[in-house]
Amino acid sequence: MRMGIRVSECIFCKIAGGQIKSDKVFEDKTVFAFRDVNPQAPQHVLIIPKRHVNSAAEATKDELAAIFSAASNIADDLKIKDSGFRMVINQGPDAGQAVPHLHLHVLGGRPLHWPPG
Ligand code: 5GP
Ligand code: ZN
Repeated sequence: MRMGIRVSECIFCKIAGGQIKSDKVFEDKTVFAFRDVNPQAPQHVLIIPKRHVNSAAEATKDELAAIFSAASNIADDLKIKDSGFRMVINQGPDAGQAVPHLHLHVLGGRPLHWPPG
C-alpha cells in the first residue's frame, strides 16, 4: 500500500520550499536539514530529500547517499561527531512515523538509551 499524500499538503515539502519557517542547518541541491520543533535531545535535526518521497524504499540511491553524507557533516558542525549521535528513520505506523515524507533524525548531545521504546 502506498501511503501517499498530496505533495501540496506535505508539511516537510512546505518547509523545504520555504512556505513554512524552520530553523535550517543545512541545504544543498538534494537535501534540506532543519531543527526538530520538539527536540528529544540537545541536538535534534531532521534531514529530508527536497523531493517528496514517502519512504526510504522510494528514495533514489543519490538521495539516500546525500542524506547520510549530510548527517555526518551536520554532526561535525554541531560538535557531536566525536561524542556520538544517533541516526533514526521511523518507517510506518509501528515505528510511529508521523510525517509521511522521508526524514532522517540526527540526535545527540547527551547519552542516548538503548533499546529505544
Ligand atoms: P516521525 O515521528 O515522523 O519520525 O518524526 C516527525 C518529527 O517531525 C517529530 O520529531 C516532530 O517533532 C517533527 N515535526 C513535525 N512537524 C514539524 C514542523 O512543523 N517543524 C519542525 N521543525 N519539526 C516538525
Ligand atoms: Zn513532502
